[in-house]
Formats: sequence, structure tokens, C-alpha cells
Amino acid sequence: MHFLSEALEAYIANHSEAEPALLQELTRETHLKVLMPRMITGHYQGSVLSLISRLVRPCNILEIGTYTGYSALCLAEGLQAGGRLHTIDKNDELTGMQRRYFDRSPYGSQIIQHTGLALELIPALEELFDLVFIDADKSEYPKYYEKVLPKVRPGGLLLFDNVLWSGKVLEPADPKDRATRILKDFNQSLQQDPRVRTVMLPIRDGLTICTVE
Ligand code: SAH
Ligand code: CA
Repeated sequence: MHFLSEALEAYIANHSEAEPALLQELTRETHLKVLMPRMITGHYQGSVLSLISRLVRPCNILEIGTYTGYSALCLAEGLQAGGRLHTIDKNDELTGMQRRYFDRSPYGSQIIQHTGLALELIPALEELFDLVFIDADKSEYPKYYEKVLPKVRPGGLLLFDNVLWSGKVLEPADPKDRATRILKDFNQSLQQDPRVRTVMLPIRDGLTICTVE
């Protein structure tokens, strides 16, 4: 779904920094070999994630939903020397491909992969995170949020992707569409939650940024 005209989207992308060759290659391989390639973060949104990370300069990043590793490589760009990015995905068929690309980047030794269900793995993480990117199962966003929030330092950032869900958040509730219903309720509840300050950005499929009080 395009919220802006395709011509304007292309203009914006063409006037933002170019996509690194490694990420171009990762995008090509994802489209050739992996199911559902439209889940990959694209060039423009990837640049935004990289920018946010370079502004925050995090020591510890958590990503929920690695897929083929595109967004992890963008987020890693802002890591401090010696910092770590922990990334979780339930699909063990992707870990080999992720690792090949992580190791070709400057951040290979700083990226730690976790394979399994996010809700089971988050409680075992002992770090205090400066930046968290949430992009796995949309119907679990409220649970990821509650489990992760105590692990984010005050002033840290939480990012939620796909919060517009291709515009479905505007449609009347369909009882069979659980993910949309949960996402709509979640978007509403964040806005009223005194533990965070929330801004929703119209980037791609919607990116919410929360700063933790
Ligand atoms: N962040 C990636 C895209 C993530 S796509 C990028 O921008 O390139 C969503 C990913 O979440 C998929 O790889 C899927 O396997 C994973 N996922 C879905 N439900 C999950 C769960 N409950 N626990 C862990 N990972 C999950
Ligand atoms: Ca996404």
C-alpha cells in the first residue's frame, strides 16, 4: 500500500542517502530465496532506522522479528563501540542467512541472534536497552510491550513497525481479524499510557516512536 504517490516515494528515496551495496544484495537474495519478501524493511525505512540509531548512540539494542536481518543491520549502524544488538526470530531457517550478512558487515561480532518465541525469550535477557525495535507478530505487540518496557532505560526509545497495517486500522472492527483489532486497541492504549510519550510517524506502513519516561 502506498500512502504517498509512487512518484513522490521514489523522489524521497532518491534524495536520501543511497542504499549500501550489502543491503542491496540482502534484498535481492531475500526476494529470490525467502517466503514473503515484502516483510523486509526497504531502503527508505532502513535509512530512518539507521538515523534514529545514530542519534541515540545505543549501547544495547533489542530487535523482535529479525527476518533476513535488514533492519538489524540498519539499527547496528548507531551502536557504540562494544555495544550489542540482540535480535529474536522464531524461524530457525533464517539464522544461517542472517549470520552470513551480519559477518560481512562491520557489526558481525556485535549482533547476537536468538531463535525462538519472543515472549519466551525476552524475560531471559538481562540487559537494560537504549533502543528497541518491535516488528514480529502484530497480535502480540501489547505483550511484547509489557515484557520489554521494564528492560528499557528511562529516556530510551521503543519503535513499533506496521502500526497502520496497510490502512486497516481505519476500517470497522472485523471480529475474524484478530491482528487488526489488537493493533487498533494497542495504538489507542499507547496514546493514553503515562509511562511513555508517543508519536506515530507516517513512514511506510506506520512507525510509532515511544520515549520511555
Ligand atoms: N524486521 C525485519 C522484518 C521482520 S518480519 C526487517 O525489517 O527486515 C517478522 C518476523 O517476525 C518474521 O521473520 C517471523 O518469523 C518473526 N516472528 C513472528 N512471530 C514471532 C514470534 N512470536 N517470536 C519471534 N519471532 C516471530
Ligand atoms: Ca515490518
